[in-house]
Order: sequence, then C-alpha cells, then structure tokens
Amino acid sequence: MTWLFKHRFLILRRLSQIGMIFLYFAANVWGWKILQGNLGSSLLFETLPLSDPFAVVQMSAAGALLGLDLLIGAGIITLFYALIGGRAFCSWVCPVNMITDAANGLRRLLRINEVEYRYVLSRHLRYWILALSIVLSAIFGVAAFEFVSPIGILNRGLIFGIGFGGAVIAGVFLFDLFGAKNGFCGHLCPLGGFYSLIGRFSLIRVKHNQEKCTVCMKCTEICPEKPVLHMIGKRSEFVTMGECSNCARCIEVCESDALHFDIRFLNQKKSASL
Ligand code: SF4
Ligand code: SF4
Repeated sequence: MTWLFKHRFLILRRLSQIGMIFLYFAANVWGWKILQGNLGSSLLFETLPLSDPFAVVQMSAAGALLGLDLLIGAGIITLFYALIGGRAFCSWVCPVNMITDAANGLRRLLRINEVEYRYVLSRHLRYWILALSIVLSAIFGVAAFEFVSPIGILNRGLIFGIGFGGAVIAGVFLFDLFGAKNGFCGHLCPLGGFYSLIGRFSLIRVKHNQEKCTVCMKCTEICPEKPVLHMIGKRSEFVTMGECSNCARCIEVCESDALHFDIRFLNQKKSASL
C-alpha cells in the first residue's frame, strides 16, 4: 500500500480545509469571487448564500432580525449535513481540526496517551455547552458562543491576520496535548455537538464488515470518537452515531479492508434482502 493511498482521505481533508481558507483569503486580498466571507456567512459564486446554522440559532435566540440570505444559507448547510455529510464539517471544513489533529499526533509521539488521568471528561459536555450557548444568547442578546469560538477566531485569523486570537488557538492545542485526548472537539465544542445532532440520519456513513475484520482494534485506537465504533469485532453494521465525523481515519488504518464509506439505508436494504 503506497503512502499516498494509505493517507488518501487525510490528503483530501487537508485540501478541502486549506482550499476553503485560501478561497476566503483570495476573496479578501485579490477580490476573487469564488467564495467570499468566512465560515460564519459566505457567498458562493456571488449567488449561493451559505451560513453557519448554529450561529443563526444563537442569533435567533438573541432576538436579532435575520436577513433572508442568512436564513437560506443556514437552510442549505443544514440540509447538506442532515441528508448527506453528517458531522463531516468537523473533519473536512473546520480549521481547528488541523490544530487538534496536530496535538493528537504529538500526544502519540510523546506517549502522553499512556499517562493515566484521574479525571474523565464527559463527551456529553458539548451538548450542555450547546444548550448553555443558546440560553446565554437569549439572556445577553448576542450570539454567545460566537464571541469565544476558536473556529471563528482561527478562520478569521487565517483570512485577515492572526492577532490576540492566537492565544485561544494555543489554548486549544495545549488542552488537547496535555489536558484530555480529543479534548476540545470530542468533549467541549458545541458546534461539533450541533452537527452531531443534525447529521444523525445522514446518508454517507462508514460501514463495518465483520467477515473481513481481524479484531486488531487499530480503528478504535485512532478514532477520535471511539464509542461510535461499538460494533467492531461483533457485527457488520453502519456507524450510525452522529458523533462520527466521517474523517475516515478508521478506513485508512484498517489493513483488512473491513471498513469503507457506503450509503446508509439504500445498502442496508440491499444487504437485508440478500
Ligand atoms: S468539534 Fe468544533 S472545533 Fe472541532 S472540528 Fe468540529 S466544529 Fe471544529
Ligand atoms: S468511525 Fe471512523 S470516520 Fe467515524 S470518527 Fe471514527 S475514525 Fe472517523
């Protein structure tokens, strides 16, 4: 297996993440009209509005008057992830994923994963933070999470220049490195939680084939959302939990070809009728 093939999804994910930042940057600096704005609200080919649905929910809770473009943009993004991509935003779009992946890689190199911690962060914490962000938005009349969101800070920083926001990003990196494995994305980020909820029934999913599986457990070791792979070594099944970000790390590490992307529901029916 060549290095390129083994890392094919990682390469595509980085191309997607960096490509988007480059297009925003090019719009800002050279006036390109392909993708203007930022991850909060943008315009594709000067026609199609795209906006962050979680930011729109917070703005609504805050009582802001929302423009039609913003609502249409949020609707398009919601439909895309709800029907097709699941939580793919986190692995294919969000720039913070590159920071947390780097921290994770360094953790493995420094063998920090082997250190035992006395505290365990709950993966449900992100859903509480999500609810709190909406409540705080309603109380203070501003989109609460957007004020401190490392995603917005990094995205704007890369497009317009990093300022003091660099400290927030360094904080996320250090927290993931020394604090908790997959600490920010796997436990705290309410935007990741939001996409986990809306992407719960999406079509494109990882599928496990028990007949090919050698139960080496390399996939569960690499998966940033380990509980979603509960079927490994037990049965052939789609990964259905919304927390899976379709990052494909599990597919890349599997040497037995027991994991692949497939279309849920359609191929579920096919296998059932065989
Ligand atoms: S969990 Fe949050 S910070 Fe992490 S990749 Fe998803 S949106 Fe980005
Ligand atoms: S199951 Fe696979 S695709 Fe889903 S989060 Fe885990 S490693 Fe990524």
